[in-house]
Amino acid sequence: MPRTTQLEPQVTRVLAPNPSGMTLDGTNTYLVGEPGRGEVAIVDPGPDDVRHLAAVEETLRALDARCVAVLVTHHHGDHAEAAEPWGTRFGATVAAADRRVTGPHGRLLEAGEKLAVAGLVLDVVPTPGHTADHLAFRLPSGAVLVGDHVLGRGTSVVTHPEGDVVAYLESLRRVHALGPSALYCGHGPELTEDPAAVLDFYLAHRAWREEQLLAALADGAGTVDQVVSVVYAAVPRTLWPAAAQSTRATVDKLVDEGRVRPRPDGSFVLA
Ligand SMILES: [Zn+2]
Repeated sequence: MPRTTQLEPQVTRVLAPNPSGMTLDGTNTYLVGEPGRGEVAIVDPGPDDVRHLAAVEETLRALDARCVAVLVTHHHGDHAEAAEPWGTRFGATVAAADRRVTGPHGRLLEAGEKLAVAGLVLDVVPTPGHTADHLAFRLPSGAVLVGDHVLGRGTSVVTHPEGDVVAYLESLRRVHALGPSALYCGHGPELTEDPAAVLDFYLAHRAWREEQLLAALADGAGTVDQVVSVVYAAVPRTLWPAAAQSTRATVDKLVDEGRVRPRPDGSFVLA
């Protein structure tokens, strides 16, 4: 992926230099604002890294704009670490759904609010699941900044114990119902071809993983590690810790539904 890309007149993406198995090419930082207004909001500043800051400041100069707000989709460090330092540096308000991100003086965003910033009105869309505090931001163009709710490649993780599979599925349907024109992801390339089909795939993928989990239990697996080694056999082992989190979150859902029963030794069986 190129370091800096203009996705539409109101949106420029700057890729942070923090690639990994979990962050794909690195964290995507978005500069969002009405052209000619001289202002942008930064969405997901990413890691507090001097090279990334330099790239973002160069982009601000190219746009002839200053940063008036720092918005954050969720509290994970690869999205939020630079929020407070950059908020201070730019004299910009830091806004998110979690005090750990905003600090004591930032702005707590509320689900469903309309946020007027940098000449645009953004819809604040609650998207819990990956984390409890996760938000997406819908632009007037119809594109949605989705953070880690949806990734540009592969699939996202429902973290454990914070994440929630039922909430995650509801959030996928909520974004689907917006009829997004594009999904601008926290990691990986933009999804512009058929965003609704991507969201349908995510819903189907979660259902498929749940079926595989139940099949593994029926075949005698009884722990998360045993399930992961069967269900994620085709996935690189470096991703198994993340797969274990999604598996634990799915087990919790199945226990809540009475389909799986926990045993005193920490293993579990089909109910
Ligand atoms: Zn995350």
